[in-house]
Amino acid sequence: MDPLYLWRDPQTGFRRKLPYSKVKNALLSKYEQGRNRIAPKAFPFVGIIDLANFCQLSCPLCPTGQKVEGRKPGVMKLSTVDRILEQLGNTLIDVELDNWGEPFLNPEIYQIIARFSSRGIKTAISSNLSFEKQFNAGDLIKSGLDHLIVSLDGATPSVYQKYRKGGNFELVMDNLKKIIESKKALKSRRPFVTMKFLVFPHNLHEREAFQKLADALGADRAWFKAPYFPQALIDRLYPGISPQKLSPSPSPAPTRKNCHWLWNSVAISGDGGVSPCCFGISYHPRFDFGNILEQGFREIWLSPIYQEARSVFLGKKPKDERARFCELCPHRGG
Ligand code: SF4
Ligand code: SF4
Repeated sequence: MDPLYLWRDPQTGFRRKLPYSKVKNALLSKYEQGRNRIAPKAFPFVGIIDLANFCQLSCPLCPTGQKVEGRKPGVMKLSTVDRILEQLGNTLIDVELDNWGEPFLNPEIYQIIARFSSRGIKTAISSNLSFEKQFNAGDLIKSGLDHLIVSLDGATPSVYQKYRKGGNFELVMDNLKKIIESKKALKSRRPFVTMKFLVFPHNLHEREAFQKLADALGADRAWFKAPYFPQALIDRLYPGISPQKLSPSPSPAPTRKNCHWLWNSVAISGDGGVSPCCFGISYHPRFDFGNILEQGFREIWLSPIYQEARSVFLGKKPKDERARFCELCPHRGG
């Protein structure tokens, strides 16, 4: 039998027992990244799984919110999740179940979370939580979700609505309260609730009030973060202000020469499209590295395009436009 190792998640503090085979794969993956192996034996241990690539809000810096043409809007089916688990269930340790939209717009969200949880995989979801119909706090707790990140960039409705266009502050508050009450009623520590505050010039003054609001609601953490969008767009909307200056906890500067995504992680869209990471390369299907509904994952992982993208970090000039993303990428190593 596979021995179990106790693993403590650094964000939530929750402990989880990991089979030795997963630990071994993750260590090999890090080793192969360090050696720049272009055809790694290890599989990714982190997954970004996009449950829905559309949204009811219209945030100004978000391509989905601004209806920029990309992948056809849709949800990930349970059968696609089963295919992912069949291919990657023995190596995944950690999944984030969102990317380019609002994951609660997927009607099978609770079953999908439960599928990953039942395989011992840590689950996290980022949501605007501004909805009524799709939401059932009890079902969410029972799904086993580990970490819920709620995007809410203000402590008052008027400031909140400056960025979360179309969102309803009171509704988000109500849903947050329901989750925290249901956790107590069901005596569950899960999900760890993070209230996320993207810091902009228009909401800087509400940081302290936001921290107090999070404490009063009983959230586990208030998280202040610089917006993660193309600098050119931020410069146009907020001329002269660097997002790094706005955040009290800016993202650390990249320290590695290569990019961990190409060895340790994978992003999979609702239509089965496989991308090396969750950044712009995964927004349009034209840049997909493969499709998990049409190919085995190993075939995609060792495909010429994946190898060409990894070779960028050996100094090779890419020919394929998809690998050029990695050559020009501002996030490499991030
Ligand atoms: S809530 Fe999220 S997915 Fe929806 S428009 Fe805003 S940033 Fe985009
Ligand atoms: S280098 Fe950039 S585009 Fe390429 S996988 Fe890494 S983060 Fe994604």
